[in-house]
Amino acid sequence: MKFNTALLHKNFSSDPSTGATVTPIYQVSAFSHESPEKLEKIFNNRAPGFAYTRISNPTVDSFEKRIASLENGIGAVACSSGMAAVTMSLLNILKAGDEIIAGSGLFGGTIDLFEDLKAFGITTHFVKRVCIDEIEPLITEKTKAIFAELIGNPALDIVDIESVSMLAHQHNIPLIIDSTTATPCLVHPIDHGADIVVHSTSKYINGGGNAISGIIIDSGNFKWDESRYEFVSEYKKYGKFAYLAKLRNGMWRNIGCCLSPMNAFLNTIGLETMGLRMERLCDNALQLAQYLDTFEDIDVNYPMLENSPYYSLAQKLLGGNGGAIITIRVGSKERAFKLMNNLKYALNATNIGDVRTLVIHPASTIYVHSSEEQKINAQVYNDTIRISVGIEDIEDLKEDFKQAIDKIGEEN
Ligand SMILES: *Cc1c(COP(=O)(O)O)cnc(C)c1O
Repeated sequence: MKFNTALLHKNFSSDPSTGATVTPIYQVSAFSHESPEKLEKIFNNRAPGFAYTRISNPTVDSFEKRIASLENGIGAVACSSGMAAVTMSLLNILKAGDEIIAGSGLFGGTIDLFEDLKAFGITTHFVKRVCIDEIEPLITEKTKAIFAELIGNPALDIVDIESVSMLAHQHNIPLIIDSTTATPCLVHPIDHGADIVVHSTSKYINGGGNAISGIIIDSGNFKWDESRYEFVSEYKKYGKFAYLAKLRNGMWRNIGCCLSPMNAFLNTIGLETMGLRMERLCDNALQLAQYLDTFEDIDVNYPMLENSPYYSLAQKLLGGNGGAIITIRVGSKERAFKLMNNLKYALNATNIGDVRTLVIHPASTIYVHSSEEQKINAQVYNDTIRISVGIEDIEDLKEDFKQAIDKIGEEN
């Protein structure tokens, strides 16, 4: 089965009770069963079935199964947001005293989260570039996870996951990859050595900008060592499903960051057309990046521009695609705001992966809680604009940016 067929058919069959071609919205809190004995079995994982939507729900279950199979994982747990997925993917295995090694070009919310985790005794060491030379010196006995975004948002740095995962595995450390900006259309991180994959499914998977959600996918490949990861002794009986069983029966369920059935439904609808959208988005992004690159006083960062340090990785890992985010530097915050104020189609909004083109000034918004150093490491400068390219006709997008750029120099 090829990719676009898989989006529709892999791990999915019509609703067994009705034949509905999309899993319906099971908008309920609880599921009744014929006897207390049956419910006891469900609660003890000795019988399949649904009990309570915080723990599982048919609409959410269908979404989880479809994404898990698309990413070549053994299972997935959906969350109320991408941030919940990032948080749970880590807290599921960490305890006070543990350390994380992470890229510094991460999504602003994730950088803020690592600050929050300090209060619980979890320390994060940041590397400027996620590569073996920078990671290896920071590894200690306490390092329990390596975390990176495959295509950093907004630095647009690409991780060579094959070498990084090899290093991680030599030290018995799982590699957790946030693949939100890469999407399963461009790469399957598990095939290249990632152990756990997370997505903010609010973005390209949803695609329409109409529901917040996240998901955690387990490769089932990581050998959790009982002496390093305490949860293992309790969950050993689940074999390679130990990590997922711990999520579903422990931390994720008890914190209660479940995905609502309605949002699972909206994401499923989005998922089915992701292949078509990504083709158009990547094509538009490349064309717009090349066009913006022709303006002398605009600095363009896009992995598929030949001057990008990530050009060859984009070729090797992402099949020659650069994703659908471009960042540009225009000289000053004032010039950036002026450009953004003059765009007609591109909306000022803090989101990516929408069908509409969106722009944001990250330094004054997403990175407002970050230090100067954190901003520089994430390549967020005072004159940086992030563009999340949409599916509009490219001629209209080019023309929109051209007229806005032309206005930068004009008096008000
Ligand atoms: C948006 C985003 C998140 C957070 O997802 P939410 O759904 O907004 O909570 C995490 N990682 C990356 C790379 C993102 O772009």
